[in-house]
Amino acid sequence: VEKHTEYYEVMEALRDSKSCAICGILEGNSKRHLEGLMYESVNDPTVRAPLVKSHGFCRKHTLRLLDCGDPLGLAILYQDQLSCLKRELDALERRPSVATRALEALGAGRAPREWKREDECPECKAEREWEARNVSVLAGWIGDPELMGAIEKGVGLCAQHLLMTAQACQSQEKRKMLIEAHRAKIDALLSELAEFVRKSEYRALAESFGKESDSWMRAVKEIASLA
Ligand SMILES: [Zn+2]
Ligand SMILES: [Zn+2]
Repeated sequence: VEKHTEYYEVMEALRDSKSCAICGILEGNSKRHLEGLMYESVNDPTVRAPLVKSHGFCRKHTLRLLDCGDPLGLAILYQDQLSCLKRELDALERRPSVATRALEALGAGRAPREWKREDECPECKAEREWEARNVSVLAGWIGDPELMGAIEKGVGLCAQHLLMTAQACQSQEKRKMLIEAHRAKIDALLSELAEFVRKSEYRALAESFGKESDSWMRAVKEIASLA
């Protein structure tokens, strides 16, 4: 099979990324996607309609959107959201209060309704598609010497993307190669954590920290997908 653009994208991320390669690709894609949305699509009804249903973006993507910072784009986009909120408030105002209704129905009163999303965050949906695509490209190339070299030298995958990729491997042999490469990394990290704990507990001996000094941070990042 010929190595195409997708292969090189995964390959470069494995080689250069300071954290999980798949997380890195997703974050890059999402930033470009949100920037594109800000510059080209804020007036596009096919972009705005799903955002009305989802009441904007999830917390993660809202924070990322604020980072991409386009005041005009955000001003246009969030007129929709404030209009939606006003309609919700209008409807709420017309409904009898929970207390009144509870008294009327004696026990049949319902808990206050939250602002229901009719659809999930559109950026989360897009990210899941990029994730599936990149995981399948990576799984397909496990065993390729160049790619395995990049995995061995680099930081490797976070727990979530390691498990996803291992499950997507087409043969047990490939799965074993991927797992073995990461088992070595996990063992090395465990040794560094033990060393960090040991030196911290015997700080009186004034032994200075080595490469294990940030091992706790790498352990946290391994377990939590931060993309
Ligand atoms: Zn990841
Ligand atoms: Zn989201």
